Amino acid sequence: MSEAARRAEIWRVAGAVCDPEIPVLTIADMGVLRAVRLNGDAVEIDITPTYSGCPAMNMIALEIETALEGAGFGRPKVNLVLAPAWTTDFLTAEGREKLRAYGIAPPRKAAGRRGLFGQEQVPCPRCGSVLTEEIAPFGSTSCKALWRCQSCREPFDYFKCH
Ligand SMILES: [Zn+2]
Repeated sequence: MSEAARRAEIWRVAGAVCDPEIPVLTIADMGVLRAVRLNGDAVEIDITPTYSGCPAMNMIALEIETALEGAGFGRPKVNLVLAPAWTTDFLTAEGREKLRAYGIAPPRKAAGRRGLFGQEQVPCPRCGSVLTEEIAPFGSTSCKALWRCQSCREPFDYFKCH
């Protein structure tokens, strides 16, 4: 296997690890997987945490190690890269679509900190109505808020961390 092909395969295997908080999204969808480097047989992976202190990162690093060892690439070195900081703009278009299909309103691009204070319009992921209201700032996990649609009356999670 050429070095480019190995690198692409490592990217594919590592990138297929799912986010433990949002199992429909892979870390490639999330933009958490930042880089794959090869140095001979040694593999280095850079990941950027979605927000500081997210305990999910340890689990993600462990799953990357397990996945790559299982695929015969040996044990990678997984680096946490904190700069540039992850924002929801790192989400891929495919990741946003998966979130919507899962019933979670994807984050608005460049929502900035206003998203934390409920001052933005969040369209309902089911019917698209913008007549929505925040019920609770924290939903099933700390990076999701619980919202409700006034049109279809369904509650939904809004992915708010950035
Ligand atoms: Zn709705």
